[in-house]
Formats: sequence, C-alpha cells, structure tokens
Amino acid sequence: MVCDVAVVGAGIAGMTAAIYALRAGRSVVIFEKESIGGQIALSPKVENYPGFTEISGLELSDNVFNQALGLGAQLEVDEVKSVERTSAGFRIVCGYGEHEAKAVVIASGLKHRRLEAAAPFEGAGVSYCAVCDGMFYKGKTVAVVGGGNTAVSEALYLADVCEKVYLVHRRTGYRAEKAVMDRFLAKENIIRLESRTVEAVERDGAGLKLTLKSTVDGGLDGVTVDGLFVALGHIPQSAPFEGLIDLDENGFALSGEDCMTKTPGVFVAGDCRRKEVRQLTTAAADGAAAGLAASKYIDGL
Ligand SMILES: Cc1cc2nc3c(=O)[nH]c(=O)nc-3n(C[C@H](O)[C@H](O)[C@H](O)COP(=O)(O)OP(=O)(O)OC[C@H]3O[C@@H](n4cnc5c(N)ncnc54)[C@H](O)[C@@H]3O)c2cc1C
Repeated sequence: MVCDVAVVGAGIAGMTAAIYALRAGRSVVIFEKESIGGQIALSPKVENYPGFTEISGLELSDNVFNQALGLGAQLEVDEVKSVERTSAGFRIVCGYGEHEAKAVVIASGLKHRRLEAAAPFEGAGVSYCAVCDGMFYKGKTVAVVGGGNTAVSEALYLADVCEKVYLVHRRTGYRAEKAVMDRFLAKENIIRLESRTVEAVERDGAGLKLTLKSTVDGGLDGVTVDGLFVALGHIPQSAPFEGLIDLDENGFALSGEDCMTKTPGVFVAGDCRRKEVRQLTTAAADGAAAGLAASKYIDGL
C-alpha cells in the first residue's frame, strides 16, 4: 500500500509534521529506529516549551505521539536505510522491509558527541544544551567541555547566567568565529582551562568533581562544578539521505524556511536541518511547515 507521507523520525519535528499532514487529510506512516520522542525523551525537565511551566521530556513526547496516533498515524519501528525515487513517488528502504510513499519528511534529528566519562550523570548535572538547561544553574559555577564554535557560544551564553564558567579545552586554539571569540575573551567570568581533557567525573555533594588531565605532560588537576555542559559537536543523522538531498559540510540538510529540499516531494524538519536555533519550538515549527508543504505537494500531483 502507498501512503501519502512517510515521516522519518518520531522526534518532535517528525510527530508534528505527521499531525499537520494528518489534519490535512493525508495518510501518514512514521518510521522510528529507536524511541518515541527522540532527544527530548531523555530530558527530565523542560521549562521553555510554551504552554507548560514544567513538563518532563517523556510526558511531552507521549502527549504529541498520542495526538498523532489519535489522528490515525501509523508507526513502523524500523530504521530507514535509504529513500529512492520511483515513478510513483518514493521507496522507503528499511531494515525489515520496503514501503512506498508519495512524499517524504525527513526529521531524523541529530546525536550529540558524548563524553564517556560524563555519561552516568547525563540529565543529573550533565547537559548538552546551554539554552535548554542554563537557567537551572543561575548564579552557580559550571564547566563547558569543547573548543569549537558551539563550545565557545555555550560558554558565552552561560557566562550571562552563571557566576563562573570554566571552559575545558584540549588545545589552546579555538575553532570559533572572530566576533564570537572577541566577546569570549572579554568575559571576565569565563576561566579557560586549556590543554586539558576531562579524565573522570564523580559526584561531589550536590555538584560534580571533574578530574582534568594535561595534554602536555599528563599531570592531573581538577575543579568542582554545579553543572557540566558537553559541547563536543553534533552528528546529524543524515547519512541515509546523501544523494537524495543536499547536505552542508557538516551533514546538515539544506532547505529553505519552507523546509523544501532540492528534490520535489522531499522535505526536512527539525534538528537535522541547517539552521541557527535547535530547540523544541523550532522543531515543531519546522514540522508544521514540512507537514503542510508535503500535503500541498501531493495536491499538485
Ligand atoms: C538532554 C536534552 C535536553 C534538551 N532540553 C531541551 C529543552 O529543555 N528545551 C528545548 O527546546 N530543547 C531541548 N533540547 C533540544 C531538543 O530536544 C531538540 O531540539 C528537539 O528534540 C529536536 O527534535 P527533532 O525531532 O528534530 O530531532 P530528534 O529529537 O533528534 O528526533 C529524531 C528522531 O529520528 C529518529 N531517526 C533518526 N534517523 C532515523 C532513521 N534513519 N530511521 C528511523 N528513525 C530515525 C531518531 O531515532 C529520533 O527519534 C534538549 C536536547 C537534549 C539532548
């Protein structure tokens, strides 16, 4: 059976795209390779989604998923390996079978490069997003790990919220734009801990004790912080769609604000898109645009 819209990913972007396409009268199959909700399902507390003063990521995901199911969405728990164009539309090649669709919304999100030493404390003192979790550390001391544009930007954001920000970087040079670097170097409450890696993370009272190792002589030192932000980079989950759509040098999908790609009938939504702000609100906004654009595309077939 050919469905109208195949949605890759049951994160907030994909589920919102499904809701909008379903409400426009389309049949929708959502493909999900891991778990409903995507990244936000891991977050114990969301405080910046309009309409909810506080909600857990899991509850928010469940609500959106149930809304999509109630409208008639079908779920396939399977990994999309590739999407191929056919004379009738698109073939969705999955781990356990193949499906046909008239239009496709790619909402495959991203993964954060993890810091293994910090993994046991994710969601309990360790975060991957300063905009999401910075306020939990208002007036406190935090550390950011990384040396790229994201790490420097996260440190700058946190410096306006927190009393003190350590930036732990394994080198002395930073891969950040000059304007961002100038602001970073001028911030008095950012303390650079250069030529160091995070060797171990341990609970220390209500905070976290970081053991740091010198990349120069292997010597150890450390700091105790209230929170640790890991900013080692993003890995967009776009590999299966290479060739079908254009990706930038980091693997993010190129599209306009209308979420259309270079391939008619293929739309992208959420964190897998190249864009400035990656948040729940922007994922949902993309999902709405992509779901409606997919429906309009089918109207024109
Ligand atoms: C710990 C944490 C806390 C956060 N807190 C906040 C917050 O408080 N407020 C806020 O606004 N934002 C927060 N964010 C950011 C927010 O979660 C993301 O911006 C948003 O969830 C992105 O949604 P998405 O649907 O684009 O992608 P994702 O959530 O990444 O979902 C993509 C989905 O696609 C699936 N998928 C990928 N490839 C395939 C494939 N080939 N086949 C099938 N399925 C596939 C994945 O398994 C995943 O479920 C947080 C992020 C994290 C990690």
